[in-house]
Amino acid sequence: MQNFPLMINGEPVETPQHSEVINPATGLPFASCSQADVHVAQQAIGAAAQAFDSWSKLSHSQRQEYCHQIGAVIEANMPELMQLICQETGKPMGGLNGVGAGMEVGGSAFWAHFTADLELPVEVLQDDDSGRVELHRKPLGVVASITPWNWPLLIATWHVIPALLAGNTVVIKPSPYTPITTLRMVELANSVLPPGVLNAITGDGEVGNLLTSHPQIAKVIFTGSTPTGRKIMASASASLKRLTLELGGNDAGIVLPGTNLDSALPAIFGCCFHNNGQTCAALKRLYVHRSQYQAACDGMAAKARTIKVGNGLEEGTELGPVQNAAQLAIVESLVAAAKEEGGKVLCGGERLPGDGYFYAPTVVAGLSNGSRLVDEEPFGPVLPIVAYDSLEEVIELANDNDAGLGGSVWADDLDDAHALAGKLACGTVWINDHGAVQPNMPFGGVKQSGLGVEFGLEGLKEMTSCQSICIKPLAPKPS
Ligand code: NDP
Repeated sequence: MQNFPLMINGEPVETPQHSEVINPATGLPFASCSQADVHVAQQAIGAAAQAFDSWSKLSHSQRQEYCHQIGAVIEANMPELMQLICQETGKPMGGLNGVGAGMEVGGSAFWAHFTADLELPVEVLQDDDSGRVELHRKPLGVVASITPWNWPLLIATWHVIPALLAGNTVVIKPSPYTPITTLRMVELANSVLPPGVLNAITGDGEVGNLLTSHPQIAKVIFTGSTPTGRKIMASASASLKRLTLELGGNDAGIVLPGTNLDSALPAIFGCCFHNNGQTCAALKRLYVHRSQYQAACDGMAAKARTIKVGNGLEEGTELGPVQNAAQLAIVESLVAAAKEEGGKVLCGGERLPGDGYFYAPTVVAGLSNGSRLVDEEPFGPVLPIVAYDSLEEVIELANDNDAGLGGSVWADDLDDAHALAGKLACGTVWINDHGAVQPNMPFGGVKQSGLGVEFGLEGLKEMTSCQSICIKPLAPKPS
């Protein structure tokens, strides 16, 4: 079984301890990775701290060139990275609506190139006889990136590229469920980067705690669950680290009365079920006006029954397995709770045969807020559809959740949808779409879904601190 090394100071690092990585389509290990202990993690932080001085002194355009080169090595190694993504996450090579390993790797390269082109010019806030005020953006230092298992390569790219572009150095720690593609990407990136600029380690809770509390780490960017986000915030507080936290979502989608379901439902289905619902900003609660409720339930269940679930390496697979056994247990427990609470399982509702963590795409009717399946994020291939009677009611239901990542309104009349969009308490609202992130649009949560934003200029600025330079003339200018 191939072992993937850590990357520290530009060198692959093998350690005595290896951790096996399971392919969720088979339930069997397919590769292993070296494990860092606290001592090795210290070395990674030290390497990044040492590299910061020269990296931060490069010009913005020099760092832009390096970031483009990372995009290029990802592109040049797409087939290998896709294969690894497919094996470690379970997601198909192609996938439902083209959302699969190809999109993850191609999207990472595209994101790297787009972000590399962002500029961070000095802003002149005032320039008159009384003085000149300039706003400069300074790098922070060493950034720790902690990533989850649902989109490991894409999220790593989202964290790493803006951090590097802004002049920071990075230590990344991928999820123990999906470390392989990240380790390989960092190895590839190190073929073009100076040593120490981008380091990758794995490890247990002690290593995670070290990253989030170490005095030489200036910022933590984390994508994952809300409870872990809270722990990271607590751990980072002693040294006042900067934080970007992209946490869980339980996004509502609202179908307005009279919407053409023939057009809307296929699109809605993809927004709910792509990557098996394991996307922070997937549509996870669908609210449909009572006049169209039955038709929407029938349409979504009919579509779910046609979906090909299987090993992502097999041609034509639309959805793979749930990524890990713990997540599958959460899905099973939420569906069991839905049944107990009077929900009607219209399709699916059970594991599929085989050794992998396969679960049938599931649509549940007859529930409302207050049921666990509606209130909690399933992060799996399960969708509750909830009936509503008035727009006031549905806004209340959609906002009645601690999460506030995304939301959507579906309607033929864009003005009607737009009028409702601003009433949703969440970071992004899509109209006739859901969860489609793009590199020029800031993305982040409100309420318990996180802190700060990623993407675009706003996201890049989060990798910097402001320095205002205020210049006053000592004497009035001679006339
Ligand atoms: P976690 O939030 O627990 O873990 C995500 C990452 O954080 C992993 O790399 C993990 O590594 C690390 N981590 C965990 N605890 C700490 C800590 N105290 N300090 C530093 N790092 C830490 O997510 P899970 O993978 O366990 O998934 C649980 C739930 O999170 C899911 O059910 C889903 O609801 C949600 N989730 C949300 C995602 C999103 O995109 N917003 C993505 C994935 C999951 P380690 O385990 O080694 O500590």
